[in-house]
Amino acid sequence: MANSRERIVIVGAGIIGLNVALVLAQRGFGGQITVAAEHHPGDTAPSYTSPWAGCNFSAISGRDKNALRWDKKGYAHLSSLAATGSSKTFVRETESIEYWDDNVPEEKIQDMAQYLKNFRVLPPAELPDGVRFGVAFTTLTLNAPNHLKYLYERLQKDYGVRFVRKVVSDIRDPFSNPETKIVFNCVGNQAKTLLGVTDSQCYPTRGQVLLARAPHVHTNVMRHGRDYETYIIPRPESNGSVILGGYMQKGNGDSSTYASEAESIIERTTALSPELSKHSFETLAAFSGLRPSREGGARIERTDIDVAGHTRIIVHNYGAGGTGFQAGYGMATESVDTIDDILEQWSSKFSGKL
Ligand SMILES: Cc1cc2nc3c(=O)[nH]c(=O)nc-3n(C[C@H](O)[C@H](O)[C@H](O)COP(=O)(O)OP(=O)(O)OC[C@H]3O[C@@H](n4cnc5c(N)ncnc54)[C@H](O)[C@@H]3O)c2cc1C
Repeated sequence: MANSRERIVIVGAGIIGLNVALVLAQRGFGGQITVAAEHHPGDTAPSYTSPWAGCNFSAISGRDKNALRWDKKGYAHLSSLAATGSSKTFVRETESIEYWDDNVPEEKIQDMAQYLKNFRVLPPAELPDGVRFGVAFTTLTLNAPNHLKYLYERLQKDYGVRFVRKVVSDIRDPFSNPETKIVFNCVGNQAKTLLGVTDSQCYPTRGQVLLARAPHVHTNVMRHGRDYETYIIPRPESNGSVILGGYMQKGNGDSSTYASEAESIIERTTALSPELSKHSFETLAAFSGLRPSREGGARIERTDIDVAGHTRIIVHNYGAGGTGFQAGYGMATESVDTIDDILEQWSSKFSGKL
């Protein structure tokens, strides 16, 4: 194999770009990858969604076949990271309860029931007032900022992936290097405006959460209301912190935080979780984040383009909405599968045909 570290360029170092790098690295291409991104793990910015995630695996994702498949792959992947040890990966198995006031996604729940550990439907006597349906299962919770740093270090140390800090003004920019044959587009919300992409189906979904210190909380709880989402997510390896949420404000790109929303979150979460309200707890910070959403769901698609008479490939992987951590590994495997033909050529011998 020829030695080019920019043969594959991944634009974006959020959970989506990192998972794509991981899947490619696991297939033996770590030394061929450069991740080019404005923000890297450890940074915080309104335009970098991943560090703000709650973060857990839940039934909040879509009901379409893609979402069901990505969730299943994501659950298996995160389970293996939890088995490796949360002190290393910042992923942990956690008991979870999810409630629906209405609009129970029955087919989705049937699908998830096939693979979720310790899944059971809650009897009516165990449901809070106003709740129509509830399930319990073992979920995965993540310490999002630290999980990003874990992937960042693992990709560099174990697989030789290179990271550069760079803003691209057009997704085709990396092809100015003739060595670059494939670009993965993992820019999250920027897919709406980035030249060469400008996808009008993209929009942000704002969320506000609170970071609180509540070491007495061990259970993940979610309540999917008609017009609200309330959740309590214990954060692994965080000295007893929890994330309290939340909001799903479609089309809202405001990265401010609001005291009125913080009050509503505390009111809703203490009402929902007897475990949380059993003892007092300290609110440490309020955050807001913008989920990179897309009408019709995430875009996983390969497009072949002509650059100065040569075929070059862009693989789009963006629009994960509120599920980049739970679905990201599944999305990554399927986006990498779109270039199987090229990777097979490169595995035997770099052909130079591209
Ligand atoms: C409050 C909240 C709670 C959430 N909870 C959960 C949860 O419990 N479970 C779950 O699975 N998901 C959750 N999510 C959703 C999850 O955070 C997102 O799906 C995920 O972070 C999207 O990742 P991404 O890599 O697509 O985007 P981002 O993390 O935004 O990364 C985009 C990357 O692209 C780079 N970039 C963009 N444009 C350019 C450019 N022109 N040049 C160079 N680099 C560029 C950025 O710098 C960054 O590195 C939550 C989100 C929020 C806001």
